[in-house]
Amino acid sequence: MSNSKKRTISQILFIGLFFFLLFRGNLQIWVAFWALGIVVSLIFDRVYCGWACPMGTLLRFQSWIYDKFNLTREKVSSRLILNSFRVILILGFLAGMIAVRRFGYQLNIILILVGSSIVMSFFLEESCWHKICPHGTVLSISTKFSKYRMSISEDDCTGCGLCENACPNNTINKLVESKTREIDNKECLVCFDCQKVCPVEAVNYNN
Ligand code: SF4
Ligand code: SF4
Repeated sequence: MSNSKKRTISQILFIGLFFFLLFRGNLQIWVAFWALGIVVSLIFDRVYCGWACPMGTLLRFQSWIYDKFNLTREKVSSRLILNSFRVILILGFLAGMIAVRRFGYQLNIILILVGSSIVMSFFLEESCWHKICPHGTVLSISTKFSKYRMSISEDDCTGCGLCENACPNNTINKLVESKTREIDNKECLVCFDCQKVCPVEAVNYNN
């Protein structure tokens, strides 16, 4: 079975679990999955984002619809999304979680986060949300230690650029000194979309 199919099955199972917890009123359990995602990222990179995150799954489905009907969304340059902005969002998110617990507000922060990602992605490309998601920002730091990650073999890559176009998080760049591509692993979702389209099997997931 291809990695792409395995990923789809994993996403269906996790989104099913997410809605199950939501309807049971136990969605706060998902915080444990966030923590687990950080631990797993220390070895396997951001697999949580690409394989388990309910936002990632819903955004993938949303992007599929946009592609199918040839709808376009605004692209925001990564350079405009400053690290300081990402940190402010994390602090705001943590403050919200603490306030809900401390003062007993009837707010579901996890659901607000999921809803925000969907609404934002009506207008902006999927990658925008991946770049500002508070949990994704934490993972972009923890993955510095990842043992396994996606990589492109410079020897095999022909520089066709198909992977760059396929990447949902705009995380593949052209090397300045050659036509080959490289992956920015701290933003990579380990979705295998690049591997699927590469005609010369230059993309690998290894240590
Ligand atoms: S680099 Fe490849 S695996 Fe990583 S997000 Fe982009 S397409 Fe997915
Ligand atoms: S699709 Fe493969 S050959 Fe083409 S640029 Fe990407 S890694 Fe290189």
